[in-house]
Amino acid sequence: MAKAGGETEIKRAMCLWCKGLCGVKVHVKDGRLVKLEDDPDLQRTVWPPNKGCIRLKAAAEYFYHPDRLNFPLKRIGEKGEGKWQQISWHQALDEIGDKLKEIINKYGSEAIAYSEGTGPRTELPLAARFLRVIGTPNYCSQGQICFFPRLRVAHAIVGFHPEFPIKPQTRCIVLLGKEPLITEPYTANAILAAKKNGAKIIVLDPRRTRSAAAADIWLQLRPGSDCAVLMGMINVIIKEELYDKDFVEKWCYGFDKLRERAEQYPLEEVEKISQVPAEKIREAARVYARNHPGCFVEGMGTEQLQNNAQAFHARWVLAGLTANIDIEGGEELLGWHPKVLNPEEVSPRVPFPPDKLDKQIGSNRFKLMSVATTGLLANYTDKVWGKKIRLGDAAHAPLVYRAMLSGKPYPVRAMISVSSNPMITQANTKLVYKALKSLDLYVVLDFFVTPSAELADYVLPSACWLEVPYLYDRAGYNDGVLSGEAALPSVVPGEYEHKDDYEVWRELAIRLGKGELMPWKSREEYYDKLVEPMGYTFKEFVHKVRYAPKKPGFKKYEKTGFATPTGKVEFYSTIFEKLGYDPLPKFEEPAETPVSAPELAKEYPLRLITGGRMREFFHSEWRQVDSVRRKRPYPLMQIHPETAAGLGIKEGDWVWIETPRGRVRQKAEFLEGIDPGVVHAEHGWWFPELPGEEPWLHGVWESNINVVMNDDPDVCNQITGSWPLRTALCKVYKLKSY
Ligand code: SF4
Repeated sequence: MAKAGGETEIKRAMCLWCKGLCGVKVHVKDGRLVKLEDDPDLQRTVWPPNKGCIRLKAAAEYFYHPDRLNFPLKRIGEKGEGKWQQISWHQALDEIGDKLKEIINKYGSEAIAYSEGTGPRTELPLAARFLRVIGTPNYCSQGQICFFPRLRVAHAIVGFHPEFPIKPQTRCIVLLGKEPLITEPYTANAILAAKKNGAKIIVLDPRRTRSAAAADIWLQLRPGSDCAVLMGMINVIIKEELYDKDFVEKWCYGFDKLRERAEQYPLEEVEKISQVPAEKIREAARVYARNHPGCFVEGMGTEQLQNNAQAFHARWVLAGLTANIDIEGGEELLGWHPKVLNPEEVSPRVPFPPDKLDKQIGSNRFKLMSVATTGLLANYTDKVWGKKIRLGDAAHAPLVYRAMLSGKPYPVRAMISVSSNPMITQANTKLVYKALKSLDLYVVLDFFVTPSAELADYVLPSACWLEVPYLYDRAGYNDGVLSGEAALPSVVPGEYEHKDDYEVWRELAIRLGKGELMPWKSREEYYDKLVEPMGYTFKEFVHKVRYAPKKPGFKKYEKTGFATPTGKVEFYSTIFEKLGYDPLPKFEEPAETPVSAPELAKEYPLRLITGGRMREFFHSEWRQVDSVRRKRPYPLMQIHPETAAGLGIKEGDWVWIETPRGRVRQKAEFLEGIDPGVVHAEHGWWFPELPGEEPWLHGVWESNINVVMNDDPDVCNQITGSWPLRTALCKVYKLKSY
C-alpha cells in the first residue's frame, strides 16, 4: 500500500505477461500505478533490458482498462446470453462450493475438470494441489502443446530437462521450431551474444523468421518433418564417425540399435520427406558435430506436431552422440535448487489420490503424460537429484471435452478455467463450445470477459502480477529461482476486488471441508515455506536475493549416472519400451498432408501451419488494449506472393482459410520466406470490441484459427497426446467484397 502522505514507493515485481519474467520496478503512489522501469537487480545469466516491450509500456492501460473484470459476476440469463449480475466474493464462493459438493456427491470428484493456460500466469503447483485436495485427476493444460512433451521426453531419455542452456562458451545453437527474437528476449539476447563470440546458428523452421534470417544454416523443412531431418543428421554423424566414441560407449544406451534405425534415413530419402536439400542437412550435421559445445533450443513449432515426441527423442540422441550433455556451454542438467523446496515437499503433503490414477482421462492412451508415468520417472530423478519430477502430467483435453458431451468414460460435469480461454486456444472450437455449454458448472477466473467466460456460470476477477507476489523456478527447470513482490493492492473498495488464485483455491477447499490441506493464509505464507531452507522469509528473499541462480556443476553423471533406468542417455528408451512405444525415434507422416491424404489435397492444396507468435500479443490476450491493438489491428495470414498472385489475392485482402472442418478469415500478408505451398495463420484471435452475447461471443467464429484445426485423438501424437496445429490441409480464397 502507499505510504502515508502520498509518497512514491518503488516495489520490486516480476512481469508475468509473457514468459520473459522480467524484473520490473513499479512506482506506486497512493496505491496507484505511476510508472514502470526495468529492474537490473533481477539478473539472470542471460538478461536483457526490456525497454522495447510494448506490453510493459501499456501496463497502466491494461490494469485500469474500463473492461477489466473487477467484481465477481453470476450468470442470470441463459448460458451465452450475456446477462450478468454482480455479486460478492462471499456469495460466489459459497455458491460455487455448494455446486462442487453436489457434483462430487453425484458423480465423484473426477467429474470436475480444470483448464489452464500458460504457466506463469497462475501459481500452477497451488492449482495442482487444490485439484489433488478435491480429488480430481482431470487437469487439462496447454502445456500438452507447449512445454510438457519436451520435458517428459527429456526426462525419459536423459533424466532432466535443461532450460536456458546458451552460455558464452556455446559454439553451436540449434533452434528447433523456435523464434526467440519474438518470443523470448533473454534467449534471443543470449543467442546474439553467442553469435558475436563466433557460435554457429542452425534453424529448423518452415518460415524465414528473423532467427532463420540471422542463422548460418536455415533448414526450411516441410511442416511436420522435423524428426526426419534430425534422423538424417544422426545418420550423417554416425556414418562420418563424427560422434564422441568414448562418451557413447560409456554413457549411452542402445547405440547399435540406433545405428540400424538411422540407416533407414539416407539423406536422399530425407530430402524427399522434408524438401531440405541433402547437402544442407549434411552441412548442418557436420557443423553441429564439429562446433562443440552445442545445444538445442526447442519451441512450439515442434511441440505442436503430430511427431513431436519422436523429434525430441532424436534431438536428444544428437546431444548424446556429440557428448553435449552436462558440459559448460552445452546442455547443462542443473537439477533442482537444493535450498528451495518443491511444492510437494511442503507440509502438509497432498499426494495424488491413488484411487484416481486410472481415472485421469487419456492416461491409458497417451501414457508418457500420465500421473503413473510421473511416478515412474520420479524414481530415477529421486535417485540422482534427490527430488521427484512433479510436472508434465495432464489429462488429455480433447478427450475431456468429449467426455463432457458423451459421458464416456464417465461424466465430466464441471470445469474451472484459469488463465485459459479454451474457446480460442483449444483446437476444434465447435466441440469445445458444445462441451462448455453442456456443463452443470463452468467457472472462469480471468482478467477480462473472454469468449470462454461468456459461456460461464460464474466469472471471477483475477489479480495479475502487479497485485501478487511470485516465486518462480519453472517447477525446478529454470536456471535459478526468481522472485517479485506484490506492488499494487488487489482490492480498492468501490473500484475493484481482484483476488489471488490461491485465495480462491483455499476458500473453496475450506468450503469443501479440506481447508487444513491449504493451510497458508496467503500465497506469501506459502512462499515463506518454500524458501525456509535458505534461512529467509519470502520478503527477505525478494529484497536480499531476488534471484538465486543454481550453481553450475559439470559431468555430474560421472558420479551419479543419468536419471534414467539404465543410468545412461537412452538412445533406445527403456521407458518408451515399457510404456509400449517404439523405443527409437522414427519419423511418421502426419495424418493430413498431400502425402498421407492425396485425395483431400486435391480440394485443399495448401499446407497450413498456425500459431507463430506475435510481438504485440501473448496468445489470446491484449486485443482490447488500444495502444497495442493499433499496432496489429487484424489477424494476418502469411502467404507467398506468387501463390497469392495465382489466387488473385492482393496484400491486405481479407481471405477465407478453409480446411475440411470449416473456414475463418484473416488478412493476407506476403512473405517471400515461406514455401509457396504453405500458409501460416495467426492464432489467438477474437474481437473484444464485438458483442459478448451469442451469436457473437466477441467474434469467436470470425478469425480464430482453432475453429478449423483438428483435435481428433487419432491424429494426436500417440505418446504425448499433443494435437497437431502445424500440419493441416487448407484452401485459401478471397472474400467477396463490395
Ligand atoms: S511482457 Fe514484456 S516486460 Fe513482461 S515479461 Fe514479457 S517481455 Fe518482459
